[in-house]
Amino acid sequence: MAVVGLTRKILKTGRVAEPAARAGEVLPKAAGLSGSVQVRHVDAGSCNGCEIEIGQAFSPVYDAERHGARLVASPRHADVLTVTGPVTVNMAGPLRKTFEAMPEPRIVVAIGDCAKDCGMFAAGHGVTGPVSDVVPVDVHVAGCPPEPARIVAALRGLTGR
Ligand code: SF4
Repeated sequence: MAVVGLTRKILKTGRVAEPAARAGEVLPKAAGLSGSVQVRHVDAGSCNGCEIEIGQAFSPVYDAERHGARLVASPRHADVLTVTGPVTVNMAGPLRKTFEAMPEPRIVVAIGDCAKDCGMFAAGHGVTGPVSDVVPVDVHVAGCPPEPARIVAALRGLTGR
């Protein structure tokens, strides 16, 4: 009986999310992806702060999926590679292999200040360099860590939705 009441309430309430602002210009490299991108994520050595925000970006609150971005488990299914952290010596090889396993156009989104210039881990033991030293970066999302809304905005810049 409770399920019937809950279902009735859901139907009566409808969708309560605020409409999103219009998406900005689409990255030219992503123009052929028809508003939908499959995303493979690699943590190349982050403190996991960026991962928490990425998790929020795909949560029901920020809901990146409603803008056409979806996380996938295999680089072979991915159009987009998101990368966090300074690249550690141990992760440089796996990051390069992940990139090489992706089909074209292989768009790389570096998330967080560490991904750009190693941030607070610059010159640290075991750090090999920023993400752009290992794979070509197309988009950078600044912040330590960046807010989920900024991550979603970057992904919308690939889907246009
Ligand atoms: S940018 Fe900040 S939150 Fe992200 S991995 Fe670096 S230190 Fe952690």
